[in-house]
Amino acid sequence: MSLTLPTYPQPDARGRYGRFGGRYVPETLIPALDELEQAYNAAKTDPEFLNELARLLTDFVGRPSGLYLAQRLTDHAGGAKIYLKREDQNYTGAHKINNCLAQALLARRMGKRRVIAETGAGQHGVASATAAALLGLECIVYMGAEDIRRQAMNVFRMKLLGAEVREVTSGTSTLKDATNEAIRDWVTNVRDTFYILGSVVGPHPYPAMVRDFQSVIGEEVKVQLQDLEGRAAPDAIVACVGGGSNAIGIFAPYAYLPPAQRPRLIGTEAAGEGVDSGKHAASVAGGRIGVLHGSLMYLLNDAEGQIVPPHSISAGLDYPGIGPEHCYYSETGVAEYVPVTDAQALEGLQLLTRLEGIIPALESAHAIYHAVQLARELGPEGVIVVNLSGRGDKDVAEVMRLLDLEAQSPEAQSPEALSSAAQSPEPQREEVTA
Ligand SMILES: *Cc1c(COP(=O)(O)O)cnc(C)c1O
Repeated sequence: MSLTLPTYPQPDARGRYGRFGGRYVPETLIPALDELEQAYNAAKTDPEFLNELARLLTDFVGRPSGLYLAQRLTDHAGGAKIYLKREDQNYTGAHKINNCLAQALLARRMGKRRVIAETGAGQHGVASATAAALLGLECIVYMGAEDIRRQAMNVFRMKLLGAEVREVTSGTSTLKDATNEAIRDWVTNVRDTFYILGSVVGPHPYPAMVRDFQSVIGEEVKVQLQDLEGRAAPDAIVACVGGGSNAIGIFAPYAYLPPAQRPRLIGTEAAGEGVDSGKHAASVAGGRIGVLHGSLMYLLNDAEGQIVPPHSISAGLDYPGIGPEHCYYSETGVAEYVPVTDAQALEGLQLLTRLEGIIPALESAHAIYHAVQLARELGPEGVIVVNLSGRGDKDVAEVMRLLDLEAQSPEAQSPEALSSAAQSPEPQREEVTA
């Protein structure tokens, strides 16, 4: 596989997409961001860097990932064809490794021997620790105390890979606090340290750089769909959105096409228990403009600008903001962002598992659920590509707990629920837990 990094439009000189993005950071970090930007600009046209990245994506990650026609899911939905872009097939189980490997290579190229990362559920921490082990870099991962408690297995994985996991006890002891600590570390150790950021968020140039590294997803889809359907663009692309990196990775190769050639680009946000419940992570539907982690974006924050803690069934979508380029897409109508609840995601996960033998990550299950609704809307002539951002092995214990709870709830035992379950053509939940 040969690789050239795409040349999508860059943000303006201040790192802005429209009014979003920028560099809201302490002054001490500006030289570091400039250094990073220059190094990245040089690397992205350097054949040595690109060949090394291409080799690792092929031999280590296992790219290209498949583009797979989900026939039984398509039949079930009864409308447009549904293809799955199989990022769950990547080594370490999700799209995050694409970006981590590229940033770790860049760190080594810049002569930085120490990398740091933030992590919530541990997915980005594990991918960063993996890349650091592969390239022989020292790795420190900041993680909230609450997340450390919830994600013991990923914490151990990172340690096994040789990373040091630093516990963060400020704020709510979760992802946003871990990110603050990582930024603090970077300010202090900027000379020998590279900050591996996990999504299309943070100060410029991170959102553009992470987008470019993840766009391998959409660039592969163009070629694969041309083979399968005789056209490079589907009618619609659906991807889940936390910070937004897997979504931008599959959107970006299409986002700058003229409107008439552009597929519908749809990001599914985590609506948790509902956008009106206050327990969600839907930054476009339920947020307002604010600044977090160096960037202006749609954000869950109150009238005083304080962050409202996000909630989602899936740890990877549990981020209070959404990357600036997505904000810009939303404002200009390039992409749409729709809320999908916890319960709907759980339904999407069970549906894909039963019909295709693929257990998706709970994050990706948000996109699956919406794709089924959209397939009906588009009708049988339509083609949809869903970004299956990761595999669900990490979520199986949590799904077991949730389905047990559901089975024990009074509604599940009411006569109506039992009879409607009996008539439902969909898989019976009891069988899953049996
Ligand atoms: C981390 C993660 C996400 C959310 O991150 P984005 O930057 O929005 O892509 C989605 N899916 C999986 C499987 C993840 O691990």
